[in-house]
Formats: sequence, structure tokens, C-alpha cells
Amino acid sequence: MLGWKDDRPLTEVLPGKVAKALTKSFGYSTCGQLLMNHYPRDYIRQGRDFQAFAEREAPEGSFITISGTVTNVSKRPIRNGFVLNVTVDDTYTAVYFNGVWQERVLYPGMRVLFSGKLKFFNSQAQLQHPEFLILDAPRGETSVSKRWGGTLKAISQFVDVEELLREREWLPVYRASSTLKTWTIMAAIHHVLKTLPPIQDPLDISDLTFDKAIREIHEPGPEGPQRAIDRLKYNEALGIGLVMALRRRDTRHWRAFAMPPADDGYRAEMLAKVPFDLTSGQKQVLRDIDRDISEAVPMSRLLQGEVGSGKTLVAVAAMLSAVDAGRQAALLAPTEVLAHQHARSISAMLPDDIRLTVLSGSMKTAEKRQALLDIVSGEADIVVGTHAIIQQTVEFYSLGLVVVDEQHRFGVEQRDTLRMKAPEGTFPHVLVMTATPIPRTIAMTVFGDLEVSSLHELPGGRKPIQSSVLPEAKASWVRRGWERIREEVDAGRQAYVVCPRIEGEGGVLELAEALEEGPLEGLRIMVLHGRMDDKDDRMAAFARGEVDVLISTTVIEVGVDVPNATVILIRESENFGVSQLHQLRGRVGRGGNASLCLFHTLAAPNSPSFERISKIAATSSGFELTELDMEYRREGDVLGTRQSGRQRTLQLLDLSQDLMIIERAYEDAYVLVDEDPELAFELTVEIREEEQEYLDKS
Ligand code: ADP
Ligand code: MG
Repeated sequence: MLGWKDDRPLTEVLPGKVAKALTKSFGYSTCGQLLMNHYPRDYIRQGRDFQAFAEREAPEGSFITISGTVTNVSKRPIRNGFVLNVTVDDTYTAVYFNGVWQERVLYPGMRVLFSGKLKFFNSQAQLQHPEFLILDAPRGETSVSKRWGGTLKAISQFVDVEELLREREWLPVYRASSTLKTWTIMAAIHHVLKTLPPIQDPLDISDLTFDKAIREIHEPGPEGPQRAIDRLKYNEALGIGLVMALRRRDTRHWRAFAMPPADDGYRAEMLAKVPFDLTSGQKQVLRDIDRDISEAVPMSRLLQGEVGSGKTLVAVAAMLSAVDAGRQAALLAPTEVLAHQHARSISAMLPDDIRLTVLSGSMKTAEKRQALLDIVSGEADIVVGTHAIIQQTVEFYSLGLVVVDEQHRFGVEQRDTLRMKAPEGTFPHVLVMTATPIPRTIAMTVFGDLEVSSLHELPGGRKPIQSSVLPEAKASWVRRGWERIREEVDAGRQAYVVCPRIEGEGGVLELAEALEEGPLEGLRIMVLHGRMDDKDDRMAAFARGEVDVLISTTVIEVGVDVPNATVILIRESENFGVSQLHQLRGRVGRGGNASLCLFHTLAAPNSPSFERISKIAATSSGFELTELDMEYRREGDVLGTRQSGRQRTLQLLDLSQDLMIIERAYEDAYVLVDEDPELAFELTVEIREEEQEYLDKS
């Protein structure tokens, strides 16, 4: 990576069988792939390992590798033979049924590396039939004794096992497969490194050379692998930093329309009509935006704000600035339902002369043709639709601003496609809004040089939402949940019930039927799900208060705004992600009334799922939840563009933890691009190819 690769075919360097197994198990064909894509997933420190793994509390069934000294070997007869118990460090036992050759080989005093599945038997840690590798044998047999056969023999054919293990305090543990043990991979990598000439570092910007780092991460010296890990993390961050810096260099000469806010235009008219005072956060964000769009340089601003913090108003004000300046504005929503909902609530705020056009995939052909015509002729001042607007061949008359709602995955690549939408030689200003707060590192990575504004406070008089968990096992709690919905409806309020599926057990259709005849009998119930054609009409009816309880899938996940809804009950919450649950909860608490969110779950108390849901229930801050979220999924998901299964640019870098490394690398990247753009371009060829590949596939 970054200008270096090792293209030697594995088959040239390793025994054919090992090379083949590496290809079959992991898809690697070159040495470089093995070295760079197969970093150790863990390390064991000789002599201290059992403790380390006990501290990590490996769950039963996990595959672990540990080393230690054999302290006892005993044999116990059973019906069809015997059980060999090999006690290690007086703490755990390797168990072999009819372990005839193991009995011959293993004796007290040996240091051995075991690898196998963890079991707890009478709360004793056991490995059943683990593979093993002898590290040190006091009676002097070498660990390469041919008679032991199997894996060891295979390894000893191409590396000196003594050399591999001698005086090594840290041993790498690799992701293994059924045909490749972790130590076979260790041996293969050892051999690949041994035959690798010193790597010339194309960049000399760190105290540890790249050559040292790649060797040390696989084969740490006594000081351990951390230094090498940090160095390689830096490399990964630098790669992304260079791509971003190059991109910014590219965009520096892009031009946008300058749209300074007018004192007496439509925007002023709209703001004067708003029936409440803007929060100080809203005022600040508007000042940020005004400053940006007054310039002829395209704005790239991310607006983060808790659910219900009033982002829409800010967006409308910005869009009217565009209209005041004689341009068009577009608002992109993540779903059709939301697009219509936005169109409705925004229309209500707009001055009479402003023409709002909705563009939606479900429109009839004639309607759509008219909408497209309005957009290209400039009749339409504000266009509301889904993200499809930027993919389709929609032409604008004079697009000045694009607002992207609830889409924290709207990354740099998508932004680039907007360039095509603005008139010749210009680029629209872009405002991305999200209620899912993005850690700064991720914002930097996905959005590059995006500026960030935040809305922290909720507008006047909002009461925080109360959350509770309703475990299925507690029937009375579940019953109480339905009663609460009834009470809210009796008080004139409305309720959401969200199901994880449409059909089948626990689905929208089934539950609606059960509720109509059971706990919610007599209430006005309506179902809503993604396969319906009249979603929008149904949502509108709910918003008008013609329905008491809306039973739906997650089509209501983001942005739907019905202030009179005060309770939401989410069925089988364990099926949803952290940010999804937070979003769903945000559907209530939008008016001045106290609101309630009930997380129903089938998960057993004390299970990880149950704990996750309890944590969400206990936390109302989106910022804290993002951190929680990061614990549950790899940043690959958050990034959206770096999917598993393909080669990942980010192997080591943890976007939620490595802020310092990332900042340093990004600074260096900008300097490098400034000083030597050609070199930066060359170094990142592969990263950009990878990105392109991803885009082509998606
Ligand atoms: P979100 O940030 O989740 O998109 P919205 O923009 O939908 O939030 O705003 C939520 C609700 O708060 C809307 O009903 C909106 O009219 C209302 N609202 C927005 N700003 C204010 C304010 N300054 N004072 C009172 N209510 C406000
Ligand atoms: Mg919103």
C-alpha cells in the first residue's frame, strides 16, 4: 500500500500446498496480500497467556490459542478407551479422547502452544482435542521431530521451527481456517518476510520505517507490536488523507453562485412568519450557512442535530436564500414517504409565491413529465424528492443549493455527482443534515473537508422521552404497554407500533389483526408498510389525526413529524440497530407533551441483545449512542463505502479511537499534496482504484 506492493506469487515462495490453502481459504495470491491483509488478530505473550484470555473472558465455544507449561498429565479409563488430561499452568486442561500419540509426546515441564475450542466443564476451562505446537522440551527433543507428523511436519519442511519460535516473547495469532492453523500461517509469513528484500520507503515521514513496521507487526520484538500497529495505522490514515487532499485540490477551482442573504426577500418573509423564536443554535447555524453561501466557493457543510432539534427550519431558510438569489434549491430525503412529508410541512412554511415541486418515483408519467419540465424551465423554485434526483437525468435550470436530509452516508462520491446538476462550470452549495451524530474522525474520512455545525438543544418546552424495556417474558409489562397506548389515545394523542417485518409471526399484518381484536379493540388502527402504494395518503391521514394507532414497519424511521404522537412501541427491538432505534424513538416527543418509547424484546434478560436495548433505553443522547453504536459494528458499516468481503483500505485504523493518528496523518497528507501532488497521486492509485471498483459495483 502507498506505493509499495509485494507481487511475488505465493506459489513461488511457499510450498505449493500451503500457497494453495491460502488462496482457497482467504483468496490471497501474492505475498503482499498475505502480509497486508492478514495482520495478526491477536498476540499471545509466552507465559502470560492464560490470564490474558481469562481476563478477556472468552465465551464458551470460541476458538482460542494459548501457551503455557504442562504441569500434569493424567489418564482416566472410560468405556471405550481412555481420556488423557493435560493440565497446563495448573489452570486449564487439554483433553484428548484416546490420545495415544499425545500421551507419548506430552509430559510435564514442556512449554506448549495449544489451539482449539474453549469449553467450560464444571467451571473448568477445557480445550477439547486442541492442536498443539511444542515450544520448549526440557528432555531435549526438538519441536521438529518428524514422528509428530501433521502440521508441524508441514511447517518444518519450509521453515526452521526452532528459529521461528526461539526466544520469541510475542507470538502472533492469525485468523485461521479448517485447513490452515494459526502457526502454519505464522510460518508462511515468517518465510515470506525472510525472503523479502528491505522495502524502500517512498515516504520518509515517520520514526519507524514501513519496512520495520510490516516485519514487527507480524514478528514483534520484546517491546511488543504496538509501535508497528500505530505506524501502519498511520499509513492507512495517510492513504485516505491523501485521497481527500487531492480531491480538495481538485475542487479548489470549482465555482458556485454567491448567494448572500437578502434582508427583504422570501427568506425574511418566512422567518417573520414562524410562530416561535429560533433557538440560539438555529441562529448560529444559519449564520454559518449564510457566511458559506455568500461566497462563490461551494459550501460543504454537515449539520448535526438531535432528532427534533429543528433542522428543517434551517434548511428552508437556506433554500429561500437560494431563491432570493434567483436560484433553485433541492431537498433530498432518504425515502418517498419522507419526501412527501417534507413537501407538506415545508409548503406550510413557504411564502405564497414560492413554487415547490415534488419529484417522486411513484408519480404517473404525465405528472412526472410536468415536474421535470418545471424543474428545467426554472418554474420550480424548490424541488423535493428522494436521492434518486441526483442519479436520474434530472436537469435543473439553475441549481444553487442541495440539502441532503438524514443521510449521513452521503459521502464525497455522491457529492461529486452533484457537479453535473448545476449549470456549466458551477457546483451547488451542499448542506448535509443528520440526526445520527458522526464522530469527527468519520466525518473527516467520509466527507473530507466538510465543515460541521451542530444543534444540541431541543426547541422550547420539549420534555425528554421516557424509555422502558418490555421483555416478552414479563407478560404483565407487555400488557401494560398496550394499556399505555390506550391511555394516550384516550387523552387525545396518537401512537406508533413498529414491527420488524410485514408478514408472518410478529409482522405488521398479523399484529394489527391481533391488536384490533385484543388489547387495542375499538381504536382506529391503520397499517403502513413499504409495499403499499398509498403510503403517502396513509401517512397524511395519520398526520391529520384520523387514525389513533399506526402499525408499521420502519418506513417511519426518519423524519416523520407528527407532534401529536406521544407513544411509540417497538416490537422485537433486538432486530434493529442502535441508531435505528434512536431514530424510531425520535418519532415521538415532537410536541409539548411528555412522550414514551417502549422497547419490546424477545431477547432473554442478560443476553447481549437485551443489554444493548437496555443501554439505549437508558441513554437519550444521540452522541453517547453513536459511541455505543461504534462498539457494536465495525466502522466499515458506518462508512458505508468500505464493505467487508473485499479488500479493505482500513485494516487496523479504528475511526472511533485513533483520532490523534488520523489528525497527524491528515495534516501530513495536505502538506504532501501541496508539495508534491504527482507523488501523492501515484501513491494513492490503488486506493482510488478500489474506491472506483466499489462505486461501479453499487
Ligand atoms: P429534526 O431536526 O428532527 O428534523 P424538525 O426540523 O422536524 O426536527 O423539527 C421538529 C419540530 O420542532 C417541528 O415540529 C418544528 O416545527 C419544531 N420547531 C423547529 N424549530 C423550533 C423552535 N425554534 N421552537 C419551537 N419549535 C420548533
Ligand atoms: Mg428532520
